[in-house]
Amino acid sequence: MGLFKSDAVLQTKLERVSLGESRILSFWRAYKDDYEGKSMKDTIEEMRGRKFRSGLGYDLHRLEVGRKLIVGGIELPFEKGSVGHSDGDVLAHAVCDALLGAAGLGDIGTHFPDSDPKWKGANSLLFLEHAKKLLDENHFAIEHVDAVVITEKPKLGPHFPKMREALARALGVSAADELVLVGDPIQFAAYAYWYLKIYGHADVRTLDGGRQKWIDEGRELTTEASSPAPKGYSARERDESIRARRDQVLAWLNEHGRALVDVRSPQEYAGELMAPPGYEQEGAARTGHIPTAQSIPWAQAVRDDGTFKAADELAQLYGGKGVNGDKPVIAYCRIGERSSHTWFVLKHLLGYQNVRNYDGSWTEWGSMIDVPVEKP
Ligand SMILES: [Zn+2]
Repeated sequence: MGLFKSDAVLQTKLERVSLGESRILSFWRAYKDDYEGKSMKDTIEEMRGRKFRSGLGYDLHRLEVGRKLIVGGIELPFEKGSVGHSDGDVLAHAVCDALLGAAGLGDIGTHFPDSDPKWKGANSLLFLEHAKKLLDENHFAIEHVDAVVITEKPKLGPHFPKMREALARALGVSAADELVLVGDPIQFAAYAYWYLKIYGHADVRTLDGGRQKWIDEGRELTTEASSPAPKGYSARERDESIRARRDQVLAWLNEHGRALVDVRSPQEYAGELMAPPGYEQEGAARTGHIPTAQSIPWAQAVRDDGTFKAADELAQLYGGKGVNGDKPVIAYCRIGERSSHTWFVLKHLLGYQNVRNYDGSWTEWGSMIDVPVEKP
């Protein structure tokens, strides 16, 4: 590599794709009990070897007058721009190379050769989208992207938020913060989880057992209100693949090979109660349940302390009622909160592919005209 004057080159070094160190540490803490007796270092090594891969990307472009300067998908106002067959986006190229490298899927040159006229002047975010597609096909998930761009001029800092957003969009991940939801009662956290997923928040978890378990374990509490600093948030395009609408439920009534789960109490299912005690004002016009729905009250998925049951118990609970991973499933309750909990269990603990939450639920169904209702 030759030497360039510092404002004449733009280079990017990408150090880690995959899980950042801090995330590994927090994961280790969360699962410490499973790793009792092992040192943190051994645990991290073991987890790395088993689950995580890192990729390294590096790129360098010469700058020239008369070219656009595009970094991280954002055009920056500057008198020079990077020379390249594509738009010369040094950051997108390095990230792309790191991702392909981590997955052992070749490099940017093999996928997007600069001899191919198709890529002349191309938006490099397309490379990232393509890389992401390849990763998906090969069952890799992106956990973390860390990048360093070295330049003397122009200043990049003010453009970071937009770059981050553009790269995250191209990679189908969220640029938003890691969120931990603490429910009280626990199903509220599941509802918030589902809601955040609808709008594409990538990194969100729920505290197993919720606030009550925290209290039961004698952990620290405070009465002080927190004062987080306001920051921008951009929601992604709505993901309707985890949501069911009334028309779909109606269409399902005549179909085979699918499962409908009523997660309310047996009394609500049987039409003896309109709503759980304490919520009488929030009813529907009629009582009963949607025909063909199986009754599996949501709380059967948790133990007495509110934590999730083990996977084999859960598989037995739902599988025993014909709700298995081979079929698409729709869960409903009264307003979609308790069914979010069941949705979470089926989707994320049992790993069923096609699970939807019908958030209109009984409040909508029980108030509609001309839909069938079953009541024993
Ligand atoms: Zn490049």
